[in-house]
Amino acid sequence: MDIDIGRSALQHIYGNLWIKRDDLIDPIIGGNKFRKLKYNIQAAKAAGKDTLLTFGGAYSNHILATARTGQIHNMGTIGVIRGHAEKGLSPNLIKAQDMGMTLQFLSREDYKDRNDAAYLAALQALHPSAYIIPEGGTNAHAMKGIAEIRAELPDDIDVIATACGSGGTLAGLIAAYADKPDITLLGFSVLKGEDQLTPSIKTLLEAQGIMPRCKWRIVTAHHFGGYAKAPPELKTYIKGFKARHDIPLDYVYTGKMMFGLEAWLKEHQNTEKAIALHTGGLFTAGL
Ligand SMILES: *Cc1c(COP(=O)(O)O)cnc(C)c1O
Repeated sequence: MDIDIGRSALQHIYGNLWIKRDDLIDPIIGGNKFRKLKYNIQAAKAAGKDTLLTFGGAYSNHILATARTGQIHNMGTIGVIRGHAEKGLSPNLIKAQDMGMTLQFLSREDYKDRNDAAYLAALQALHPSAYIIPEGGTNAHAMKGIAEIRAELPDDIDVIATACGSGGTLAGLIAAYADKPDITLLGFSVLKGEDQLTPSIKTLLEAQGIMPRCKWRIVTAHHFGGYAKAPPELKTYIKGFKARHDIPLDYVYTGKMMFGLEAWLKEHQNTEKAIALHTGGLFTAGL
C-alpha cells in the first residue's frame, strides 16, 4: 500500500506527554485501521481471495477503512452492517458505498451471531471468494500490524495510551511490549457498561500463547455516555485541546482517550514519558 508511515511522527504536547500521530498516515485508513488491515490484506491475497467481507455498525471507522483498502488493492468489499438503513445512511456508510462497498444490513438480533462459527461457515459458503475479517478488524493479523508501532517509538517510555473499541489495538501493543515489565499500557474504553474488553483481550493473548510481563489495564471511567455519545463537556474539551495544542481529536475515540490520559497523568505525576496513540477517526470528527 502506498502509505507513508514516515509522517506518523512523535510529537511533544507538554511536559511528560507525547502523541504518536498515526492519524497523519492517511485521513481515511490512517490511525490504527491501516495497521490492523495490513496483514489481513496479505493473508487474503495469499488465500487467493478477491473480496474483503467484514462487520460493523453505521459509524464504524473499520467499515470505511476496509472499503478504502479494497479500493486501493483492487478487491471487492462487502460490509455487513448492524441494524437497518431506514433513517438513511450515515456519513461513513455513504462514503464506503461510494468507494464500491456492497452493504448488507443485519438486524441487531442476527448481528449477535457475527462471531458464531456456524454462521461464519454459512456466510463463507455464500461468498466463497471473500476473506472474512471480524468486527473492528481485530484478529491475530491485526495485532501483528499494531505491534510494529514499537519499532517507531523510543524505548524509554513509561506509559502508552490508546482508545479501545474492540480491544485489538491494545492487544497488539501488549503483544509488542510483552517482554517489558516497566511499561504500562492503558486502554481507555469508549463503551458503556460492564468491562468486556479485559476478558476479550485476555482471550486474544492466550490464543497466541502470549504471557505479558508488561502492565496493562482497561480504564472504563471516561466513556462519556457510551459509543459515539458526545456530551457538551467532551466537545468543549476537544475544542480546547485543539486550541491549546493544534491537534485535532475525534469524539468517538481519541477525545475520550486524551481526556482520560490527562486525568490519569494528574494522578500519576511521577510519570516521565507518556505517549498517546492518535488512532485517527477524524473523518467522523463532526459526528
Ligand atoms: C477503531 C478505532 C479505535 C478502536 O480500536 P480497537 O482496536 O477496536 O480497540 C480507536 N480509535 C479510532 C480512531 C478507531 O477508529
